[in-house]
Amino acid sequence: MNLFTFYRNSIKTLSVAGCDSPEFDVQQLFDFCLKINKTQLLLRANESIDNLDTSFFNECLEKRKNRIPLQYIIGEWGFYKYNFKVGEGVLIPRPETELIPEYIYSKFQKEPPKVVYDICTGTGCIGITIAKLFPACKVYCVDISETAIDYATKNKENLCADNVTILKKDMLDPTSPIGLPFADIIISNPPYIKSDEISTLQQEVKYEPSLALDGGEDGLMFYRALKENWFPFLNSNGLMILECGENQAKDILEMFLETAKGAKFIKDGQDIDRIVVLKK
Ligand code: GLN
Repeated sequence: MNLFTFYRNSIKTLSVAGCDSPEFDVQQLFDFCLKINKTQLLLRANESIDNLDTSFFNECLEKRKNRIPLQYIIGEWGFYKYNFKVGEGVLIPRPETELIPEYIYSKFQKEPPKVVYDICTGTGCIGITIAKLFPACKVYCVDISETAIDYATKNKENLCADNVTILKKDMLDPTSPIGLPFADIIISNPPYIKSDEISTLQQEVKYEPSLALDGGEDGLMFYRALKENWFPFLNSNGLMILECGENQAKDILEMFLETAKGAKFIKDGQDIDRIVVLKK
């Protein structure tokens, strides 16, 4: 069999398994397992696969066929302009979350924030990106999960983000922020899926930790805690920048009506109000 037929067959396998973007996935796995990128594939299309060790690729394809997320198979994923280690037990960084560092970078380039918290940090993708963009800023990344703490620590080390402090804390505990310097910006992409909607999610998402997805009965439990426990630790004129799910932005705004003195929404590529910015 030649390389191109092998490639087409692999796409077919994933397509039959119900994967969303089988061609993209196979390209990524070719690159990751066989070190064959798209150009090389075209140049080597007629080459026989007999001389190629395809065992690792086949193993990975099998995992993907079972709908294990591509990002977990590859073990790292790009976010903004950095690569983050990812794996089971930690949320995969999403493209819409990049809106947060994009917004902060555009707004604070001239006057960088000095202290930032990233609550529910997971891989640390948001907080560590902010730390890389603003090397003089101290960033505190908080998560309750041991696995998240391990990934965030690894990512901090890999990206040489010395200005990041990783803290294992329960964000729902009102005493958690005590002892931290007041923040100029508090960021969070908390779990925001309603508990009874978890079972309806795409198969891949079910491999992600429910701890990172489940936002309680109405999906808003963590926003309440952000308001009660963390908003008081913002400096005056500081910003709380929150990612949320579809149709949640207005509810969050309402929650902060008495507390914040300004607010704005940022839409994602699908025209959904995805980020809520609240001013203290
Ligand atoms: N902050 C991380 C991210 O946005 C993890 C969020 C979470 O675990 N809910 O990817």
